[in-house]
Amino acid sequence: MDILPGKLYLVPTPIGNLEDLSPRATQALAEADLIAAEDTRVAAQLLARLKLPFKALLSYHEHNEQSRVDQILAKLAAGQTIALISDAGMPAISDPGQIVVAAAVQAGYTVCALPGPNAALTALAASGLDSRYFHFEGFIPVKGKEREARLQALAGQAETALIYEAPHRLSKTLDDLASQGLGDRRLCLARELTKPYESYLYLCLDEARDQLKVQAPRGEYVLVLEGREAYLARCPEADLADQQDLEDQVREKILLLRKAGLKDRGILGVLLGLCDLGKNDLYQLIKETADPV
Ligand code: SAM
Repeated sequence: MDILPGKLYLVPTPIGNLEDLSPRATQALAEADLIAAEDTRVAAQLLARLKLPFKALLSYHEHNEQSRVDQILAKLAAGQTIALISDAGMPAISDPGQIVVAAAVQAGYTVCALPGPNAALTALAASGLDSRYFHFEGFIPVKGKEREARLQALAGQAETALIYEAPHRLSKTLDDLASQGLGDRRLCLARELTKPYESYLYLCLDEARDQLKVQAPRGEYVLVLEGREAYLARCPEADLADQQDLEDQVREKILLLRKAGLKDRGILGVLLGLCDLGKNDLYQLIKETADPV
Protein backbone atom coordinates (compact mmCIF):
# COMPACT_ATOMS: atom_id res chain seq x y z
CA MET A 1 0.00 0.00 0.00
CA ASP A 2 1.30 3.47 -0.82
CA ILE A 3 0.86 5.78 2.14
CA LEU A 4 0.27 9.11 0.45
CA PRO A 5 1.06 12.49 1.95
CA GLY A 6 -1.73 14.95 2.74
CA LYS A 7 -4.10 12.10 3.38
CA LEU A 8 -6.34 11.23 6.30
CA TYR A 9 -6.46 7.52 7.11
CA LEU A 10 -9.26 6.14 9.30
CA VAL A 11 -7.68 3.16 10.97
CA PRO A 12 -9.95 0.65 12.72
CA THR A 13 -8.34 -0.91 15.79
CA PRO A 14 -9.17 -4.21 17.54
CA ILE A 15 -12.35 -4.47 19.64
CA GLY A 16 -10.81 -7.19 21.79
CA ASN A 17 -8.33 -9.24 19.82
CA LEU A 18 -5.04 -7.71 18.72
CA GLU A 19 -4.80 -10.21 15.87
CA ASP A 20 -7.67 -8.41 14.17
CA LEU A 21 -5.49 -5.43 13.34
CA SER A 22 -4.85 -5.78 9.62
CA PRO A 23 -1.39 -5.49 8.04
CA ARG A 24 -2.60 -2.35 6.22
CA ALA A 25 -3.76 -0.82 9.50
CA THR A 26 -0.37 -1.59 11.09
CA GLN A 27 1.41 -0.04 8.12
CA ALA A 28 -0.75 3.09 8.27
CA LEU A 29 0.07 3.48 11.97
CA ALA A 30 3.76 2.86 11.36
CA GLU A 31 4.08 5.33 8.52
CA ALA A 32 1.73 8.16 9.49
CA ASP A 33 3.38 11.45 10.43
CA LEU A 34 0.84 11.90 13.19
CA ILE A 35 -1.73 9.74 14.92
CA ALA A 36 -4.88 11.53 16.06
CA ALA A 37 -6.29 9.38 18.84
CA GLU A 38 -9.42 9.38 21.01
CA ASP A 39 -7.17 8.63 23.99
CA THR A 40 -3.44 9.09 23.52
CA ARG A 41 -2.67 6.67 26.40
CA VAL A 42 -4.66 3.89 24.71
CA ALA A 43 -2.90 4.72 21.42
CA ALA A 44 0.53 4.59 23.09
CA GLN A 45 -0.30 1.16 24.57
CA LEU A 46 -1.39 -0.11 21.15
CA LEU A 47 1.83 1.12 19.51
CA ALA A 48 3.85 -0.52 22.27
CA ARG A 49 2.02 -3.84 21.85
CA LEU A 50 2.63 -3.66 18.11
CA LYS A 51 6.28 -2.78 18.78
CA LEU A 52 5.93 0.26 16.56
CA PRO A 53 8.22 3.24 17.13
CA PHE A 54 6.90 6.09 19.24
CA LYS A 55 4.77 8.44 17.14
CA ALA A 56 3.58 12.02 17.40
CA LEU A 57 0.13 11.69 19.01
CA LEU A 58 -2.65 14.27 19.06
CA SER A 59 -5.71 13.83 21.22
CA TYR A 60 -8.94 13.97 19.28
CA HIS A 61 -12.02 13.19 21.37
CA GLU A 62 -15.66 14.15 21.64
CA HIS A 63 -14.88 17.26 23.72
CA ASN A 64 -12.23 18.77 21.43
CA GLU A 65 -13.30 17.43 18.02
CA GLN A 66 -14.35 20.81 16.70
CA SER A 67 -11.30 22.69 17.94
CA ARG A 68 -8.86 20.10 16.54
CA VAL A 69 -10.20 20.36 12.99
CA ASP A 70 -8.15 23.42 11.94
CA GLN A 71 -5.00 21.89 13.41
CA ILE A 72 -5.52 18.64 11.49
CA LEU A 73 -6.38 20.45 8.24
CA ALA A 74 -3.21 22.55 8.58
CA LYS A 75 -1.12 19.39 8.90
CA LEU A 76 -2.83 17.86 5.85
CA ALA A 77 -2.12 21.11 3.96
CA ALA A 78 1.54 20.73 4.92
CA GLY A 79 1.50 17.32 3.23
CA GLN A 80 1.40 15.25 6.42
CA THR A 81 -0.23 11.86 6.59
CA ILE A 82 -2.57 11.48 9.52
CA ALA A 83 -3.97 8.26 10.94
CA LEU A 84 -7.11 8.68 13.01
CA ILE A 85 -7.95 6.01 15.58
CA SER A 86 -10.51 5.61 18.34
CA ASP A 87 -10.13 3.47 21.46
CA ALA A 88 -11.54 0.44 19.64
CA GLY A 89 -13.22 -0.34 16.35
CA MET A 90 -13.99 1.92 13.44
CA PRO A 91 -13.43 5.65 14.02
CA ALA A 92 -16.47 7.85 13.33
CA ILE A 93 -18.88 5.01 14.16
CA SER A 94 -20.28 5.92 17.60
CA ASP A 95 -16.79 7.32 18.12
CA PRO A 96 -15.03 10.61 17.32
CA GLY A 97 -14.15 11.14 13.67
CA GLN A 98 -17.12 12.38 11.73
CA ILE A 99 -16.40 16.09 12.20
CA VAL A 100 -12.82 16.00 10.94
CA VAL A 101 -13.75 13.64 8.11
CA ALA A 102 -16.47 16.05 6.94
CA ALA A 103 -14.03 18.96 7.12
CA ALA A 104 -11.31 17.05 5.22
CA VAL A 105 -13.74 15.97 2.51
CA GLN A 106 -15.05 19.53 2.24
CA ALA A 107 -11.51 20.87 1.93
CA GLY A 108 -10.73 18.38 -0.84
CA TYR A 109 -8.28 16.08 1.00
CA THR A 110 -8.31 12.37 0.35
CA VAL A 111 -9.87 10.37 3.16
CA CYS A 112 -9.09 6.68 3.18
CA ALA A 113 -11.03 4.40 5.54
CA LEU A 114 -9.37 1.05 6.07
CA PRO A 115 -11.83 -1.80 6.63
CA GLY A 116 -11.57 -3.59 9.95
CA PRO A 117 -13.05 -4.38 13.35
CA ASN A 118 -16.54 -3.07 14.07
CA ALA A 119 -18.77 -4.43 16.82
CA ALA A 120 -22.14 -3.72 15.16
CA LEU A 121 -21.50 -5.48 11.85
CA THR A 122 -19.76 -8.38 13.54
CA ALA A 123 -22.84 -8.91 15.72
CA LEU A 124 -25.25 -8.50 12.81
CA ALA A 125 -23.44 -11.08 10.72
CA ALA A 126 -23.79 -13.71 13.46
CA SER A 127 -27.25 -12.69 14.67
CA GLY A 128 -29.31 -14.85 12.34
CA LEU A 129 -31.62 -11.85 11.93
CA ASP A 130 -32.37 -10.23 8.59
CA SER A 131 -29.09 -8.68 7.46
CA ARG A 132 -30.25 -7.51 4.01
CA TYR A 133 -31.57 -4.24 5.38
CA PHE A 134 -30.63 -2.88 8.76
CA HIS A 135 -30.63 0.28 10.82
CA PHE A 136 -27.61 1.37 12.85
CA GLU A 137 -28.82 3.02 16.04
CA GLY A 138 -25.60 3.09 18.09
CA PHE A 139 -26.19 4.39 21.62
CA ILE A 140 -29.75 5.41 22.51
CA PRO A 141 -29.66 8.79 24.31
CA VAL A 142 -29.65 8.16 28.05
CA LYS A 143 -32.62 10.32 29.04
CA GLY A 144 -35.24 12.89 28.20
CA LYS A 145 -37.31 13.48 25.11
CA GLU A 146 -34.49 12.36 22.84
CA ARG A 147 -34.48 8.94 24.46
CA GLU A 148 -38.25 8.66 24.23
CA ALA A 149 -38.18 9.67 20.55
CA ARG A 150 -35.51 7.10 19.68
CA LEU A 151 -37.31 4.34 21.59
CA GLN A 152 -40.51 5.12 19.70
CA ALA A 153 -38.63 5.21 16.41
CA LEU A 154 -37.13 1.79 17.18
CA ALA A 155 -40.60 0.40 17.84
CA GLY A 156 -41.65 1.42 14.33
CA GLN A 157 -38.33 0.51 12.70
CA ALA A 158 -39.01 -1.87 9.79
CA GLU A 159 -35.47 -3.26 9.63
CA THR A 160 -33.14 -5.07 12.01
CA ALA A 161 -31.66 -2.54 14.46
CA LEU A 162 -28.08 -2.49 15.79
CA ILE A 163 -27.80 -0.93 19.23
CA TYR A 164 -24.78 -0.26 21.43
CA GLU A 165 -25.24 -0.25 25.18
CA ALA A 166 -23.08 -0.09 28.30
CA PRO A 167 -23.52 -3.09 30.63
CA HIS A 168 -24.85 -1.01 33.56
CA ARG A 169 -27.59 0.43 31.32
CA LEU A 170 -28.51 -2.74 29.46
CA SER A 171 -31.40 -3.90 31.69
CA LYS A 172 -32.97 -0.43 31.71
CA THR A 173 -32.77 -0.21 27.93
CA LEU A 174 -34.35 -3.63 27.49
CA ASP A 175 -37.13 -2.61 29.93
CA ASP A 176 -37.73 0.59 27.99
CA LEU A 177 -37.85 -1.28 24.69
CA ALA A 178 -40.31 -3.74 26.24
CA SER A 179 -42.54 -0.86 27.29
CA GLN A 180 -42.70 0.13 23.61
CA GLY A 181 -44.33 -3.26 23.02
CA LEU A 182 -41.17 -4.98 21.77
CA GLY A 183 -41.06 -7.79 24.37
CA ASP A 184 -41.76 -10.49 21.76
CA ARG A 185 -39.14 -9.33 19.30
CA ARG A 186 -36.24 -11.65 18.61
CA LEU A 187 -32.97 -10.38 19.96
CA CYS A 188 -29.35 -11.37 19.64
CA LEU A 189 -27.21 -10.24 22.56
CA ALA A 190 -23.65 -10.27 21.26
CA ARG A 191 -21.22 -10.03 24.15
CA GLU A 192 -17.46 -9.51 24.39
CA LEU A 193 -16.95 -9.99 20.66
CA THR A 194 -13.53 -11.27 19.61
CA LYS A 195 -12.54 -11.71 23.29
CA PRO A 196 -11.97 -15.01 25.12
CA TYR A 197 -15.51 -14.95 26.63
CA GLU A 198 -17.31 -13.98 23.44
CA SER A 199 -20.92 -15.18 23.49
CA TYR A 200 -24.15 -14.83 21.57
CA LEU A 201 -27.57 -15.19 23.19
CA TYR A 202 -30.44 -15.78 20.81
CA LEU A 203 -33.78 -15.22 22.51
CA CYS A 204 -36.70 -12.82 22.61
CA LEU A 205 -36.43 -9.48 24.36
CA ASP A 206 -38.55 -10.46 27.37
CA GLU A 207 -36.50 -13.62 27.84
CA ALA A 208 -33.33 -11.52 27.80
CA ARG A 209 -34.78 -9.28 30.53
CA ASP A 210 -35.49 -12.34 32.69
CA GLN A 211 -32.06 -13.75 32.08
CA LEU A 212 -30.32 -10.50 33.07
CA LYS A 213 -32.21 -10.54 36.37
CA VAL A 214 -30.53 -13.87 37.17
CA GLN A 215 -27.11 -12.91 35.84
CA ALA A 216 -26.15 -9.22 35.83
CA PRO A 217 -24.65 -8.04 32.52
CA ARG A 218 -20.87 -7.77 32.36
CA GLY A 219 -18.62 -6.81 29.49
CA GLU A 220 -19.50 -5.13 26.22
CA TYR A 221 -22.72 -5.75 24.34
CA VAL A 222 -24.29 -5.18 20.97
CA LEU A 223 -28.05 -5.68 20.72
CA VAL A 224 -29.35 -6.89 17.39
CA LEU A 225 -33.10 -6.40 17.41
CA GLU A 226 -35.56 -7.96 15.00
CA GLY A 227 -37.27 -5.32 12.83
CA ARG A 228 -40.99 -4.74 12.67
CA GLU A 229 -41.30 -6.25 9.20
CA ALA A 230 -39.73 -9.59 10.13
CA TYR A 231 -41.69 -9.63 13.39
CA LEU A 232 -45.03 -9.10 11.63
CA ALA A 233 -44.17 -11.75 9.06
CA ARG A 234 -43.65 -14.13 12.01
CA CYS A 235 -46.61 -12.91 14.09
CA PRO A 236 -49.23 -11.35 11.75
CA GLU A 237 -51.79 -11.19 14.58
CA ALA A 238 -49.63 -8.52 16.29
CA ASP A 239 -50.38 -6.14 13.41
CA LEU A 240 -54.12 -6.41 14.02
CA ALA A 241 -53.66 -5.72 17.74
CA ASP A 242 -51.45 -2.69 16.94
CA GLN A 243 -54.02 -1.36 14.49
CA GLN A 244 -56.72 -1.74 17.14
CA ASP A 245 -54.60 0.17 19.68
CA LEU A 246 -53.95 2.92 17.16
CA GLU A 247 -57.63 3.28 16.34
CA ASP A 248 -58.54 3.40 20.03
CA GLN A 249 -56.06 6.24 20.58
CA VAL A 250 -57.38 8.17 17.57
CA ARG A 251 -60.99 7.65 18.75
CA GLU A 252 -60.10 9.31 22.07
CA LYS A 253 -58.71 12.33 20.21
CA ILE A 254 -61.79 12.52 17.97
CA LEU A 255 -64.05 12.62 21.02
CA LEU A 256 -62.00 15.40 22.61
CA LEU A 257 -62.16 17.46 19.42
CA ARG A 258 -65.93 16.88 19.15
CA LYS A 259 -66.27 18.08 22.72
CA ALA A 260 -64.36 21.22 21.72
CA GLY A 261 -67.06 21.83 19.07
CA LEU A 262 -65.31 20.67 15.88
CA LYS A 263 -67.30 19.01 13.08
CA ASP A 264 -66.13 16.00 11.04
CA ARG A 265 -64.15 18.02 8.46
CA GLY A 266 -62.50 20.14 11.14
CA ILE A 267 -61.44 17.02 13.07
CA LEU A 268 -60.04 15.54 9.87
CA GLY A 269 -58.03 18.73 9.27
CA VAL A 270 -56.53 18.58 12.78
CA LEU A 271 -55.72 14.87 12.91
CA LEU A 272 -54.56 14.19 9.36
CA GLY A 273 -50.79 13.87 9.44
CA LEU A 274 -50.77 13.60 13.23
CA CYS A 275 -51.74 9.96 13.28
CA ASP A 276 -50.68 6.97 11.25
CA LEU A 277 -53.96 6.67 9.30
CA GLY A 278 -54.64 7.58 5.65
CA LYS A 279 -57.23 10.27 4.83
CA ASN A 280 -60.05 7.86 3.91
CA ASP A 281 -59.53 5.57 6.89
CA LEU A 282 -59.33 8.53 9.24
CA TYR A 283 -62.52 10.10 7.86
CA GLN A 284 -64.33 6.76 8.15
CA LEU A 285 -63.22 6.49 11.79
CA ILE A 286 -64.37 10.06 12.49
CA LYS A 287 -67.82 9.30 11.02
CA GLU A 288 -68.05 6.10 13.06
CA THR A 289 -67.03 7.79 16.30
CA ALA A 290 -70.14 9.44 17.54
CA ASP A 291 -70.23 11.66 20.60
CA PRO A 292 -71.42 9.52 23.53
CA VAL A 293 -74.55 11.15 24.90
N1 SAM B 1 -16.35 2.43 16.98
C1 SAM B 1 -16.69 1.19 17.62
C2 SAM B 1 -17.05 0.14 16.57
O1 SAM B 1 -16.65 0.32 15.42
O2 SAM B 1 -17.69 -0.85 16.89
C3 SAM B 1 -17.81 1.40 18.63
C4 SAM B 1 -17.39 2.26 19.78
S1 SAM B 1 -18.64 2.53 20.96
C5 SAM B 1 -17.95 3.86 21.87
C6 SAM B 1 -18.44 1.24 22.10
C7 SAM B 1 -19.63 0.27 22.11
O3 SAM B 1 -19.47 -0.68 21.07
C8 SAM B 1 -19.73 -0.55 23.38
O4 SAM B 1 -20.44 0.12 24.39
C9 SAM B 1 -20.46 -1.80 22.90
O5 SAM B 1 -21.84 -1.55 22.81
C10 SAM B 1 -19.88 -1.95 21.49
N2 SAM B 1 -18.69 -2.82 21.53
C11 SAM B 1 -17.40 -2.45 21.39
N3 SAM B 1 -16.59 -3.52 21.48
C12 SAM B 1 -17.38 -4.59 21.68
C13 SAM B 1 -17.15 -5.98 21.86
N4 SAM B 1 -15.91 -6.49 21.86
N5 SAM B 1 -18.21 -6.80 22.03
C14 SAM B 1 -19.46 -6.30 22.04
N6 SAM B 1 -19.75 -5.00 21.88
C15 SAM B 1 -18.72 -4.16 21.71
